[in-house]
Amino acid sequence: MMRRYICLLLAVVLLGTAASAEAGERGSSGVAYEIFVGSFADSDGDGIGDLRGIEEKLGYIAALGVDMLWLTPIHPSPSYHHYDVTDYYAVAPEFGTMEDFDSLISACGERGISVILDLVVNHTSSEHPWFLQAAASLAGDGSDPMVSRYRFTQGSGQHVVPGAEDWYYEGQFGYHMPDLNLDDSQVRDEIGKIISYWQGHGVKGFRLDATTSYYTASPVRNAEFIRFLNETAKSNDPDCYLVGECWSDEQTILGLYSSGIDSLFDFPAADVNGTLIQSTLKGNGASVARRLGAWNEALVDTAPGSMDAPFLTNHDLARAYGMLRGQLPLMKVAAMLYLFLPGRPFVYYGEEIGMSGSGRDENKRLPMLWSAEDAAQNCLPPADADQNQRLKAGVDAQKDDPDSLLNWYRQLIALRALAPELAHGSMTALDTGENALCAFTVSGEGTVAVLINASTTAELTLDLDSMGLADAEILGCAGTNAETFAEKHVFPPVSCTILRVD
Ligand code: CA
Repeated sequence: MMRRYICLLLAVVLLGTAASAEAGERGSSGVAYEIFVGSFADSDGDGIGDLRGIEEKLGYIAALGVDMLWLTPIHPSPSYHHYDVTDYYAVAPEFGTMEDFDSLISACGERGISVILDLVVNHTSSEHPWFLQAAASLAGDGSDPMVSRYRFTQGSGQHVVPGAEDWYYEGQFGYHMPDLNLDDSQVRDEIGKIISYWQGHGVKGFRLDATTSYYTASPVRNAEFIRFLNETAKSNDPDCYLVGECWSDEQTILGLYSSGIDSLFDFPAADVNGTLIQSTLKGNGASVARRLGAWNEALVDTAPGSMDAPFLTNHDLARAYGMLRGQLPLMKVAAMLYLFLPGRPFVYYGEEIGMSGSGRDENKRLPMLWSAEDAAQNCLPPADADQNQRLKAGVDAQKDDPDSLLNWYRQLIALRALAPELAHGSMTALDTGENALCAFTVSGEGTVAVLINASTTAELTLDLDSMGLADAEILGCAGTNAETFAEKHVFPPVSCTILRVD
């Protein structure tokens, strides 16, 4: 019932987007942008990125063309990354105030940008008042109701409860992150309140942290818990968007889609060994069309209405810079290969300018490089980072350079906005016999074709007749221009086009 309602609503939204694109306005790109809050933009000079800093950069974000921001956890926490929360109903003081948050939401709304928050409910901080109260109780008679909120065991276990040494607790991510007992009705009630609270502040969705760890080694129960989260969020707002972190293989990811969640990150396509980077390194665009086409078919069969969430890297992965040897043409190819895929692509902040970072986690979260010349424009790196930024051209140097990676991302995302089918359509790989060419169609309300030359050296001459695209209308090109392409069907290295088939 709910899904039918959502599909109907979606059809209306898509029709609206198509109509506005015909009228010459740019539609919604359907591309999201992940911001590691402490490293993005600092408004008050303390070196730590904050919410006002993000608001001050909304012009930059809007020019990039994304229409959704995922903010890593904004709540109070003892750690720099904030994935161990001590208060789910507050903004960390170093990031600002609730007023700053409301102001950011309102400013985003004016630009048609929605905001999703990281929902970290596999565990809390070991300094969360719930855990402190439960631990204190276990040191005595253990009768406090908070005790049932965590996974305590007597006699043996993972981590010793401080002050109650016969008691232990589960903490899959370490002693400072005690796992919540997600079967506890108080915990579920509390999570429901947290979701409603932030929806009340204008949040349009959540990124679910660590979904495979909710119940260790129990995919069925993980799917059940995601279903609870999804239904809770959508009971307040049917359009609330949920995207989950399932850092696993295709089979496990497919299993979790049975929960009804909108999206799960496409980890098999990401990272150094994933389809996107490997195909980029080999100049093999055809393999991306084949693999993602098969994956899309599986998703359409198993979870109709869901959206893939492709990405190159995130805050837990090394930056693409190192994987692609810092080479601009390769970074441009990788961008083409993920930004036109069906679903909702996610760009990790700094990916669009080609930032570096690998090794320890802090290096993967280095300050957004607003300027390589003027360090005062950038945040300070996380305290334990042991690499410097290797990128030599920041936003200030790239924004007016037509050949920069930043302007490439802007072009590609603007191109994607012309094809609303890419959000929810069915993908079919086109077999052209040309390895460098990533060619596929996506059908929804209409049908578009995406053609990408993933070679950094070879020019291709395309036979549009044999691909069934002879009569297709060229919506736009990057790396070549529509006139040249229409006349000769010659496709330079590192170029792409989107065509409307019907
Ligand atoms: Ca600050």
